[in-house]
Amino acid sequence: MPTTGLAQDHRFQYHDTGPGHPERSERLERLDSALQEAGLIERCAPINVIEVDPGLVQEVHEFDYIDRVRLSCQQGMPFIDTPDSAISPDSYRIALLAVGAVIDATNQVMTGQIDNALCLVRPPGHHAERAVSMGFCLFNNVAVAAHHLIRQFRLQRVAILDWDVHHGNGTQHAFDADPRVLYISVHGHPRAVYPGTGYETEVGVGPGEGFTLNCPMKPASDDADYHNVFQDQIIPALDKFAPEFVIVSAGFDAHKLDPLAPLELETESFGWMTEMVLDVARRHSEGRVVSVLEGGYHLDALAASTCLHLERLLEA
Ligand SMILES: [Zn+2]
Repeated sequence: MPTTGLAQDHRFQYHDTGPGHPERSERLERLDSALQEAGLIERCAPINVIEVDPGLVQEVHEFDYIDRVRLSCQQGMPFIDTPDSAISPDSYRIALLAVGAVIDATNQVMTGQIDNALCLVRPPGHHAERAVSMGFCLFNNVAVAAHHLIRQFRLQRVAILDWDVHHGNGTQHAFDADPRVLYISVHGHPRAVYPGTGYETEVGVGPGEGFTLNCPMKPASDDADYHNVFQDQIIPALDKFAPEFVIVSAGFDAHKLDPLAPLELETESFGWMTEMVLDVARRHSEGRVVSVLEGGYHLDALAASTCLHLERLLEA
């Protein structure tokens, strides 16, 4: 009987970004009620949400940065590095919980306790750079997990597919010289959408050249445009790489209702994108997929898209 793990924890609300911030605790509250209403939670196996050892985070972030996050929270600073990255006294601990959940999910998938998993965590991670916070992100959850898979489980080919509408600059930079990690991002075009990186010409450096694929999408790109890019570029690149593990940076902010970006995906788009990823995983990685929440700021669109994503993971 295939199983899907689900990471959820009420403590994620203690990362308090203050009034008016789009990356707010209501996102996970709405997700929780939507998943409950759809009867999805009881169909999933629980993922342990425990603080990761900061030593593991040091694979991706400089010690000084990790400590700066800790101290800034402790001192009650309102944000770190940029007003976008709002923090509260508990944010350091909560960010460690987010990474810890993703690590437990990868462990459970690797040891065969579950087939795949969805981690509903905050703060998100894909903009977090080695020594600087960006775009609501403190620690790069998926990058730490990819390092863990290489270090702990000796994997040689980990794929990260990032379909958040914003380019995952932090994740790309964590692995741009590393051929063991294929980073693929489909996102709003850098000329129109934050953070202004993710051009097609960014393909990796040195030994990592050819292991970064950026698919920038023009404003108003819709389901059909995404379908073409998946069929023509993303799936062939994944098949060529033949990943042993697939991580999804699952942002739901390319949805047409999302207020943060001018793209036009439907809720159903996230269903077929999930199916395509699962097909890749079936072909190459024994179905191993861990999906990690990034953005998604229209609460109803986020809830509906995430429910569909999880249903597809459960059907895998
Ligand atoms: Zn985003």
